Amino acid sequence: MLLIACPVTGADVLVSADRIRSVTNHPTHIAVTVACCACGQTHVHRTGRRWAAAGAAAARRAEELVPA
Ligand SMILES: [Zn+2]
Repeated sequence: MLLIACPVTGADVLVSADRIRSVTNHPTHIAVTVACCACGQTHVHRTGRRWAAAGAAAARRAEELVPA
């Protein structure tokens, strides 16, 4: 079972492992494509240490560019 955040409904959805359509390794992250139970569409969820670090670095850059 996986807990995913559906970007269409905004709900947290618990999906079974047989709803995973693909798992792809990339240099910066792993992309997991899941058929969503809530909206019926497929969503790509990206995860991994390097992906999280890249997101944190982008957030820091955004904070530097936009005054609070
Ligand atoms: Zn969905």
